[in-house]
Amino acid sequence: MQTIGRFIRHWSSSLEHAGVDAPRLSAEVLTAKALGLTRLEVLLRQQCMLESCALQKAEALLRRRGKNEPLAYILQEKEFYGLVFQISRDVLIPRPETEQVIEVAKGYFSAHKTPFVFADVCTGSGVIGITLASVLPGSCGILSDISEKALAVARQNVRRHGLENRVQCVRSDLASAFGPDSLDLLVANPPYIAEQELASLDAGVREYEPHQALFSGEKGLQAAETLMSQAQRVLKNGARLILELGLDQPARLQRGLAAGAGLWEDAAVFQDLSHRDRILAIKKTVF
Ligand code: GLN
Repeated sequence: MQTIGRFIRHWSSSLEHAGVDAPRLSAEVLTAKALGLTRLEVLLRQQCMLESCALQKAEALLRRRGKNEPLAYILQEKEFYGLVFQISRDVLIPRPETEQVIEVAKGYFSAHKTPFVFADVCTGSGVIGITLASVLPGSCGILSDISEKALAVARQNVRRHGLENRVQCVRSDLASAFGPDSLDLLVANPPYIAEQELASLDAGVREYEPHQALFSGEKGLQAAETLMSQAQRVLKNGARLILELGLDQPARLQRGLAAGAGLWEDAAVFQDLSHRDRILAIKKTVF
């Protein structure tokens, strides 16, 4: 038998040697998960003995972390914009950068008086759409994904946040399943990493996150470009498209717009929390 404090010290140094990020935090959080306690409760019980059953449970979780499995997949939960979402390896782990997409959409729609319809395409766990529906009570949302497994996770999160009456989930390859002139807002964090960047990604991302949610063609722009052309059909006149993209991509797409036939107007690029251009917002021209 050993104390919780000693167990945590042992595992944080062993995770550190394995090259895992945030080893101490991982040891504390996963020990807490195995004991069914909060992290704070665990820190207050450092002198308590760890029962062998809890010890085995904690070791099983910590061994997964030792192989670089992201903490969020082991915990099966991730916080986003102050809400907690269920996740699994069928969906991308929600990133804090994506919270900026919510801010941008709120900027355009929080003063909107009449009810409006938005779609969150490539919804994954549903974080963007569910958060938008929560912060914009006048909205109805459609969450879509090409992956049935991802949609099952999104549906659970819709229920968890009690939004079944305003949010529905549908299977769709990007925006292909939506009707013409049906949306006031289309928002997406589509896959946007270039296929050749695979080797340079963190091991945790490369080995555990769904590649379908990450990669999109040679330059990473395939999904975004397809969405832009589909958006012309599914958006109402004057409706917005908001896309989270990779570095340099908003500027590239914007240059493409300038060369286009005036289909879009009011283009704006927004930065993420690290001041990098990451979000493109455009408005379908009203003819
Ligand atoms: N919309 C989800 C997110 O932002 C998933 C994105 C994706 O699968 N590309 O986390």
